[in-house]
Order: sequence, then C-alpha cells, then structure tokens
Amino acid sequence: MEKLIYTGNDDCLLYGVRMAVLTKKQVAKLEIGSKVATAVTDFFDAEGFIQLRPVMLGMSTDPLGPDPGSAVIKTGQVEYLGQNLSLMNSMILHKQVAVRETGRKIWIMSPNIRLEGAQRKETKRHLFEFTQADFEIPDAKMKDVMALVEKFYVELSQKLKDLPEWRELSIAPFAFRGPFKVYEIHEMEERYGKDWELAASKGHDQPFWVVCHKREFYDKEDPERPGHYLNYDLIYPKGFGEALSGAEREHDYQRILARMGRDRLEMKIYDAYLKKAREGFRQSAGAGFGIERLVRFLTESDHVGDVQLFRRVPGEPVEI
Ligand code: ASP
Ligand code: MG
Repeated sequence: MEKLIYTGNDDCLLYGVRMAVLTKKQVAKLEIGSKVATAVTDFFDAEGFIQLRPVMLGMSTDPLGPDPGSAVIKTGQVEYLGQNLSLMNSMILHKQVAVRETGRKIWIMSPNIRLEGAQRKETKRHLFEFTQADFEIPDAKMKDVMALVEKFYVELSQKLKDLPEWRELSIAPFAFRGPFKVYEIHEMEERYGKDWELAASKGHDQPFWVVCHKREFYDKEDPERPGHYLNYDLIYPKGFGEALSGAEREHDYQRILARMGRDRLEMKIYDAYLKKAREGFRQSAGAGFGIERLVRFLTESDHVGDVQLFRRVPGEPVEI
C-alpha cells in the first residue's frame, strides 16, 4: 500500500491521489481556535466556575425575542418518544435553573443552533451552528460580569501573544486593554443611527459595551428606572461587531409571567421552568460569547465561517 505523503506544500497525496487539503493559514486558524478554547476553560476553572455539560434538546429554549438583533426563522424541533423537544438556541433558561440548583458559578461550552434567515450570510458574523462560552453567576450585578469579561480578554492576550500562528497569518496578535468604554444604546443610535453596530465598531480600536437593550423576558428591567434594562452587549472594534450578550436576570416569578405575556410566548412549554421560578429563582447575572466570533476577530478573518472546519453559514448549503 502506498504511504500517505504530506508534501508540506498545502497539498497531499493519499494512495497516490492528490487530495485538496487546508492551507497552512486555515490550519493556523484552527490552531488558534483550539488555544482559545483551552484558554476559556482555564480561565473559568481558575475563577471557580463549575463547567457543566451542554444541553442540546429541551422542553423549551431561549425564545430569542423580541430582539432587534435576531433574525431566527424558527426553532429546531425534534419529535422523540412522544415529546416535542427544541434544539438549543441558548441555554439561558437552563442556566437560571442550574444556578438555582447548584448555588454556584457555572459555565458551559455550549453548542447552539440558530436557524437564521439566508440574508444573514451577508453580515459575515452569523452562523446557524456555533459554540458559545455561556456563564452565569449567582448574586452578581452587571458591573461584576463586565469586570470579569474584561479580565478574561486581557489575560487572553497574554496567553496567546507568543503563538507562532500569528506569523503564519502575517498579523500582530491583538492586545486587549480594559476597562472597555460603556455606552447606552440611545447614545449609539443618536450618533450612528438605528444600525449603529457596524459603524460604531469601525469607529473604535478596543471593544466597548453597549447597555440597556429592550429584549427577551429574562433580562431584568431596572426597578428604579422603568424602561431601562440591566443588560449589555460587548462589541468588537474594527468592524467585527457583536461579541457577547448578557444581563442581570429577571428572577421574580410574577414579573417573569408578565414579561412572557408581553412577548405572547406559548406558556405550556415553559411549565417546568415556571414551576422552578415560582419555587424561587436566585438572582443572577451572566453572559455568553461566541467562540467562532472571537477567533474570527483574533485572526482578522473575513467571514466567521472561515474559522470553521465544517462551515455552517446561513444561506450556504451544508456539504458534510
Ligand atoms: N447567552 C446569552 C446570555 O447569557 C444570551 C444569548 O445566548 O444570546 O444572555
Ligand atoms: Mg446578542
């Protein structure tokens, strides 16, 4: 049998047949993605979080709305042994339950399926299958989460700065410098218009926070300032856009019910979640950031799909 011959030249011969293989640059992006995943795990471990295994199917999942940033056309459903289960848009509901049941800081390297409309291919930062580092902290406030996230990014720069892959990609490793600036969303809209995200991103050279978005029922409204929301997005600079979303959580049963009514959610699938809320949720705050978006930003890739070995870009057919 002929041997597998790697030419070292971005081509290889397998049993004498020429195979198309990844370029060295593509492999460098996978290497950086691998180092990022390890750095995320080490960070949460050092900060005393318990890593939970991901949940992929649930009685309910994140409704992802109302959120002006969402263009999900449906939630994936699997009929299994008489139950209709939802594919995870995000584990937010499970995170609230996990904090309640463990009383601990928790995080998950969480695969999410978000069936976005085909037009989302053009944004260059949407995938219909991706992984987010999703975490939740009992008794935390938004300032605690923001400080933790800033610490993560600054430490990440330190951990990655000497990788040989930067040379392969001909780019300088990005140096995150916290604390990041904080804006209210109305400031962004006044300055850049309704579609502020990309324009604002291009106008910055460090990530920045945008707070106070009117969105899903589980993000807490400020009891002292009705109409203000205790939530936050982190935006990457240089036109890369959204990195992370999170919030202080609504944990009061009556207010959760009222917010779900506002959003006209199909209450039945939330039965078990609501039962636990009635018995008492713990106040918490958390966030989730996309691993692929982080790797795209670090590697200055054109499209977030370029950092996936198996591309999952809305509007592109799945090959394998
Ligand atoms: N994981 C995010 C959060 O913690 C929500 C999302 O997945 O978009 O709020
Ligand atoms: Mg978001």
